[in-house]
Amino acid sequence: MSAPNPVEHLSYLACLAEIRGANDAADLRFAVSRLNGLTPGEAARLEQRIRQPESPDIPDIPAVAVWRLRELASGGGEAALRASRAGIPALLRGLLELGAATPEQTAAFARDLGVVTLPDLQAALEDGRVQRVMHTAAPRVRTAADALAGEVPPVTLGRAVEILTAIQTRITHHCPQLDDVVMAGGARRFEPLVAQLVLVGRAADPAGAVEALCAMPEVDDVLHRTSRRVLLRVHHHEIDVRVAAPDDYGTVLFNHTGSSTHVAMVTARRRPSLHAREEDLYAHGALPFIPAELRNGTGEIEAAAAGRLPQLVQRLDIRGDLHMHSTYSDGQDTLEAMVAASAALGYEYMAISDHSRSAAASRTVTLDQLARQRDEVLRLREQYPGITILHGIEVDILPDGRLDFPDVVLERLDFVLASLHDAARQDGPTLTRRCLRAIAHPLVNVITHPANRLVGRRSGYALDFDAVYAAAADTGTALEIDGAPSHLDLDGEHARAAVAAGATVTIDSDCHRVRSLDRQMRLGIGTARRGWVEARNVLNCRPVSEVLAFVQAKRNG
Ligand SMILES: [Zn+2]
Ligand SMILES: [Zn+2]
Repeated sequence: MSAPNPVEHLSYLACLAEIRGANDAADLRFAVSRLNGLTPGEAARLEQRIRQPESPDIPDIPAVAVWRLRELASGGGEAALRASRAGIPALLRGLLELGAATPEQTAAFARDLGVVTLPDLQAALEDGRVQRVMHTAAPRVRTAADALAGEVPPVTLGRAVEILTAIQTRITHHCPQLDDVVMAGGARRFEPLVAQLVLVGRAADPAGAVEALCAMPEVDDVLHRTSRRVLLRVHHHEIDVRVAAPDDYGTVLFNHTGSSTHVAMVTARRRPSLHAREEDLYAHGALPFIPAELRNGTGEIEAAAAGRLPQLVQRLDIRGDLHMHSTYSDGQDTLEAMVAASAALGYEYMAISDHSRSAAASRTVTLDQLARQRDEVLRLREQYPGITILHGIEVDILPDGRLDFPDVVLERLDFVLASLHDAARQDGPTLTRRCLRAIAHPLVNVITHPANRLVGRRSGYALDFDAVYAAAADTGTALEIDGAPSHLDLDGEHARAAVAAGATVTIDSDCHRVRSLDRQMRLGIGTARRGWVEARNVLNCRPVSEVLAFVQAKRNG
């Protein structure tokens, strides 16, 4: 490898410092301009002084540049570049390492386009801004963006909410000058997979607030900063924090909540202007406020304009949780602990629904244990008179569509959930027949996580969903919106179609531990809201008498 050119080396480092928003950038740029102005004789003398570390400061060359040049002269140039690249946003590092953009182009992305994350880049490719920097080489960046998208898997919603909530708490503690710090981006819209972790906050002095954010002890590195934005690395995650001033908080929150389709559609209805509240921004576009979960460009603008937005289900509407596990099967906490926690959440009722014998769960409940559980339920009913405890089960739907516990057992239970846990290598039509047979069973009240998808890992069964919705509506069987972060199933799109077809849904936690009961219920509610679901569509928004009537009506045929 040829000896690195000092001017190129300092320029590269200047670009990296500029991306970070570090003070060194100006000094390094100044040194580059000085070096470029030297005569060959002056350059040779400078090189000699660089090689003599004991020589005093070099006039007109900032100390940081001298230090960098000495590092280069002693063979440490490559390592220095590598270390500096590690301190910039993953996207820009990726573009450099793939050779898709030069250091100057990469710095221009950050400085001129505000592009430092993959969603930033995707938006800039979409609206043609990348061409301004790259000209004819723009397609190379598109190819690199696709490659990088495959390399960095998005974060699941459950994890995203966990990470962002923890950081929100730390910000409240360390940065009192910031208020109204909320999740934005995909997490605010309850996207099952979140492409970028984003927070939006408000401060009278945004630059001062950015300063305070950078100084938080939890921050491992500051990858990029401007007076209104900072990209922090916290435990290997990049957190994009936008700091709005009080008079544009609504606009900043709206823009960074997305989706890009929704933002473009609303923006087309209004002249550009800044708003303190999102409500004002929508009003400026002659629209009522549109909840974040609906902002997907799937008819919400038209519905809002016509005054026909749904009355979305809320946490306060939920009266009970009909799906959870205990140590009788693969849960982490005892039945009593789950009952106590459900009562503490203010639920009027709950159903315990451990796994039956065929489930692939790590533990399942046998018929003997089910009888013992029955006795414990009776005891707990006396101990916890404030909450109605329903004795239920989550039975497996066997490959031929039968259930894995006999009817005489199921008849004695208050509530029966049925699940297609194991695909048994069957195709969509076979799985659909199997599901329909369970729906037709008079003792089955809910089909849990109907598509049996695993967020980010398995897209879910190719069921004939229209047939499933119709049969569910016909027979008085509910379809579940399962709030476990690995499921979130039915997803928003399917839930919307299910209620449109007249089906009743349940929103359940499918929880295996006390500490996630509320969190998973909230993920389920957010998913339901993405599906335009209203409280009137939801079985567990009804009083327990109506839940029992729903069960009885099906049993009576
Ligand atoms: Zn299940
Ligand atoms: Zn379950």
